[in-house]
Amino acid sequence: MRILVAGLIAFGVLIGLVSPAQAALPSWPNVKIGQTGDNVLTAQHLLRHRGYNIAADGDFGSGTQAAVKQFQTANGLSSDGEIGPNTWPKLIVSVQRGNNSEAVRAAQVQLNRYGYGLSVDGDFGGGTHNAAVAFQSSKGLEADGIVGPNTWQTLVGGTPSSGGGSYSLPLARSALPRSEYDDPHHDYPAIDLPVNTVPAYAAVTGTAYRINDSSCGYGLRIVKNGVDYIYCHFSGWSVANGAAVRAGDRVGTTGNTGNSTGPHLHFAIKISGTSYCPQNFLLAIYDGRTPPTPSSLPRTGCFY
Ligand SMILES: [Zn+2]
Repeated sequence: MRILVAGLIAFGVLIGLVSPAQAALPSWPNVKIGQTGDNVLTAQHLLRHRGYNIAADGDFGSGTQAAVKQFQTANGLSSDGEIGPNTWPKLIVSVQRGNNSEAVRAAQVQLNRYGYGLSVDGDFGGGTHNAAVAFQSSKGLEADGIVGPNTWQTLVGGTPSSGGGSYSLPLARSALPRSEYDDPHHDYPAIDLPVNTVPAYAAVTGTAYRINDSSCGYGLRIVKNGVDYIYCHFSGWSVANGAAVRAGDRVGTTGNTGNSTGPHLHFAIKISGTSYCPQNFLLAIYDGRTPPTPSSLPRTGCFY
């Protein structure tokens, strides 16, 4: 009897070693024509990565469907034009630090669903690596920072628990060090970020309205939940007036238009015309934390 018990324990230990306890992966979603959103956008970036020249606009139209059918035929799948549990595993691409590709954009779109606030720039740098590791840790996955099959499935198939939406720095993370995001502004609450002509990204998901006046120059106002996120001094826009934008979407190129003495991005947060200090908001995004509610931001202490 003692031997049997010992044998059972040994067997249990063996089983434990062979298949360590791990939460089941979520199911792959079915993504198909007529749908919009981040999983559509993810699939489009992955299709672009694989050479299909379609728009990455988050809108699953006939062009995306045709590309999916071609991809399925080329990979021995039944070509129904829907991205489901058989197509996703063949479509995903493992990405990791040092990669720069459309597949990295797809991973950044997914990480932003969970609030990591990355610029969707296709550059898998330290910020994306840290986000991937944090996501993996939070889900009980091997936290190696490599977005491989299990991480992809957990990202794409999962439902973000916070529902808080996603955020992005207004510039690529590599554009400026963290220390630039706490600098005070002149005269009133805002921040001037010293960059030449570089891509600017939507900080939040919302509706973008162009600004064109002698003060702001070419600028943009992104409206989300009654809050205005304002960009000034662009050299050009990347989005139409009234466009729906997602956090991390490229919205323009910085520059020196309007009342500006040198190239920089002026960034401000306003609610009903009142300016709030954006520094803590941006620092939280930089650090991968959920930023404070704009109305809770201070209105003094960030200018001189
Ligand atoms: Zn300014």
